[in-house]
Amino acid sequence: MRPIWLCGGLILAGSLLIASMPADDIAARASKLHASAIVIDTHADTPQRLLFEKFDLGHRDARGHLDIPRMREGGLNAVFMSIWTPSKVNGPKGVKRALDLIDAVREQVRLHPQDLALATTAEEVRRAHAQGKIAFLMGMEGGHMIDDDLGVLRMYAALGVRYLTLTHGSNTNWADSSTDDPKHNGLTAFGKSVVQELNRLGVLVDISHVSDKTFYDALETSRAPLMASHSSCRALCNHERNMSDDMIRALAKKGGVIQINYHIGFLSQEFLDARRKIQDEMRAKEKELEKTYGEDQGRVILEGERLAKEYIAAGKLPRVSWEKVVEHIDHAVKLVGADHVGLGSDFDGAWMPDGLEDCSKLPRLTEALLRKGYSEDDIRKILGGNILRVMEEAERVSREMQNTNR
Ligand SMILES: [Zn+2]
Repeated sequence: MRPIWLCGGLILAGSLLIASMPADDIAARASKLHASAIVIDTHADTPQRLLFEKFDLGHRDARGHLDIPRMREGGLNAVFMSIWTPSKVNGPKGVKRALDLIDAVREQVRLHPQDLALATTAEEVRRAHAQGKIAFLMGMEGGHMIDDDLGVLRMYAALGVRYLTLTHGSNTNWADSSTDDPKHNGLTAFGKSVVQELNRLGVLVDISHVSDKTFYDALETSRAPLMASHSSCRALCNHERNMSDDMIRALAKKGGVIQINYHIGFLSQEFLDARRKIQDEMRAKEKELEKTYGEDQGRVILEGERLAKEYIAAGKLPRVSWEKVVEHIDHAVKLVGADHVGLGSDFDGAWMPDGLEDCSKLPRLTEALLRKGYSEDDIRKILGGNILRVMEEAERVSREMQNTNR
């Protein structure tokens, strides 16, 4: 008997079956593919919520973008939890905050042993997946948290941190940020030694947020491929935080990967332009939020998203669809091939597009790529295979450097 797929229903010689049948062949293939792939997100700001709200990931909470029930629903198998402090929270205070955030992540793993497993290598991610657990990794967002001290960096690595974003929104004492006035012409000599130490430790060098010159300096210095943990394409949305086509090409040439960010302000030129027009007005309201919620950055971010949604509802800012994420993936794939692109949502740290409001909606991306004609192999790479390859390469470089004691 040959089944015939008809929009939403399946006709089998003489009998009509509807109800829970998939919409069509592609939808069925997509959900199978998504469920069997290792899906990895390289940037979620959820640790702010863990620390300040004492949020427990076991609870579904629609105020944020990510929790265990919705990770299960969305087939999200591994996530890099972002250890982030604002650039002004630095020095010993920044180190203490970073340790508190690391502890908050590790405590969630301890409290949910059936669902979560701490992972520090590609192999551990694969093992967690094989055991039906979600792999929790940690990435540190902002070189200011090492307090200009390689010893502190080594301690973070020992606690499980597996990438360091060289800067956040402001310059560090050794690297320029894309959203600050250039001060060091890229990386200083100490900045280069940070990159070398990261290579030796097997910690990925993350170039999201850094200035173009810092990116090129890091690319030249690093023996391991680089990652952009949460960056989108400047050709589609001209924000300095996004990567130019030349940068994406150079990153790919050395084996690296760009993990596309879902923030509507980095996805849509139309949104970015409209937002810039009302910059002062919005900034003033965001400052109010910072005053109200103080150090609770998780709350500031999510209330900021609520504010942006009010502006969108009032027609002051345009709607941005989840399909923009697919456009950015496709742009980067057309430039450098499917081996160098992945997913870095910025969940709980940014404003999500319509249709990708939280991590439960991820299967939509897989289906869209399949409909675009992407091969299943390529989609698996984008969903997580590429970042695993980059991690393995960084682990290999680390072993090599440690063997030669360099
Ligand atoms: Zn960021």
